[in-house]
Amino acid sequence: MSRPLLFLDVDGLLNPYAAQPERRPHGYTTLRVPRTGGSPEPGRELSRHRRPLRVWLNPAHGPGLLGLGFELCWATTWMADANRWIAPVLGLPQLPFVDFGDALLQERPDGVHWKTAALVEYAAGRPFAWVDDEQSGPDEAYVTAHHPAPALLHHVNPRVGLGDGDLGVLAAFAREVALPEPEQRQFPALQAPLT
Ligand SMILES: [Mg+2]
Repeated sequence: MSRPLLFLDVDGLLNPYAAQPERRPHGYTTLRVPRTGGSPEPGRELSRHRRPLRVWLNPAHGPGLLGLGFELCWATTWMADANRWIAPVLGLPQLPFVDFGDALLQERPDGVHWKTAALVEYAAGRPFAWVDDEQSGPDEAYVTAHHPAPALLHHVNPRVGLGDGDLGVLAAFAREVALPEPEQRQFPALQAPLT
């Protein structure tokens, strides 16, 4: 049986960006990523004057994620850049990523996250878990309505990021969906009533 998919966010999950800035969490390393492309920030004439993006990453997350029993897939605004900047620090191989295309960062009027429909489409009926800091009720409803297989939307606090408890929840889901179809129960033959 093929493994379920695990859709991985970066900011808020692997990078607990909302943690207090002066307190880099224990076990994390700081990565500074140059900001390329896009337009300069207001009030700045040249984009090369923009400060690099600070990203906190925990190298223990790579082995932890690889051991969960999933097929890993990036589901992040970083898209292909996650393989360039994030994967090497975590010790992850180059992973497939969801290309959000025109849906990237486009808010929907129904409150469904802009990632959700693309993830359901990418999964194409395979069981999946999605771990992120931004899902809400409408996403659960959307997935229930549009995805026929088991799905777990697991929320993580962006001030804390991915922790051992989250890995445990994800591993349990992977084990559960990897179980073979329950076979028809075999009941012991009824004993003849005593006479
Ligand atoms: Mg996020």
